[in-house]
Amino acid sequence: MRKLMKTLALLSITILSAPLVVNAEEANEIDGSAFVVHKLTDFLYAIGEPTYYQKNYTYLLVGEKQALMFDAGANQKEDITAVAMTITDNPLSVLPSHLHFDHLGGLHNFQSVFLVDTPFTRQFKRKDGLYHVPEPVHLGNFDHMVVPPFKVARLVRPEETIDLGGLRVRLLSVPGHTKDEVALYDEAHNILLAGDHLYPSWLLAGNLKDYLSSLDATLKVINPKTEIYGAHADENPTRVPVMTYDEVVAIRDKMLQIQAGRAKGESFSDPELIKSSDLYKVEKGISILTNIHFTDGRGYGY
Ligand SMILES: [Zn+2]
Repeated sequence: MRKLMKTLALLSITILSAPLVVNAEEANEIDGSAFVVHKLTDFLYAIGEPTYYQKNYTYLLVGEKQALMFDAGANQKEDITAVAMTITDNPLSVLPSHLHFDHLGGLHNFQSVFLVDTPFTRQFKRKDGLYHVPEPVHLGNFDHMVVPPFKVARLVRPEETIDLGGLRVRLLSVPGHTKDEVALYDEAHNILLAGDHLYPSWLLAGNLKDYLSSLDATLKVINPKTEIYGAHADENPTRVPVMTYDEVVAIRDKMLQIQAGRAKGESFSDPELIKSSDLYKVEKGISILTNIHFTDGRGYGY
């Protein structure tokens, strides 16, 4: 592992003033690995998968007593917990932002899994005490992936705080992409880890009405100084996906227009995942997809 301490020192200065843009050369690349580590602060790391087609970013929160990974990564073969253990010796848990396959690839490597406590997630618990997430929920067929049944160490209710020791994050339920989508808000440092609720690329709306309510709720929690980190990169996979408050407002406003039938969409497809959809441009690389049909013919949404 190559450590670039000089640039990391610079990073801790920039983070106080400007939206953070981490370039590839500032990242901590691990030779031959699918994972690239970006140190954002002393307690927050982004672990990118720049060679994966969905360009996932997973976040590691390091408290004084415990560490928590927000998402398990998409990669099924390499052990993402080994990456975390190069950063911290603290007991490590994982909390998926939602139960889609590209956020669960490394779940089997974790001893301790946290899950949002909602009627939707509770239905997956079977008599064996394990959570069995069916394929139509995790959609793992796209990556030839199965999600083995897993034990949940802790159910976390919406609005509940997870205390990692000197570092506290509040779980926000933000349905819209999926029913179970969650975000984590660190009020003391004004940081939002947004999962698939917000990232600077194509946002897949599973339910527009829910998505809008969640964006309204998020805008009541965050403020123009909040650092917002999403789970998928924009067209540059080496850049940690950051969002601004104004972009969140623009996404909310566009969704309002879509709901009212006033937005102009265009048809959109992508060979890897999307057979057909309606795409609404927001700004820069950000857009909203509705009416989605996947390449395997399945419709998306709830
Ligand atoms: Zn997703």
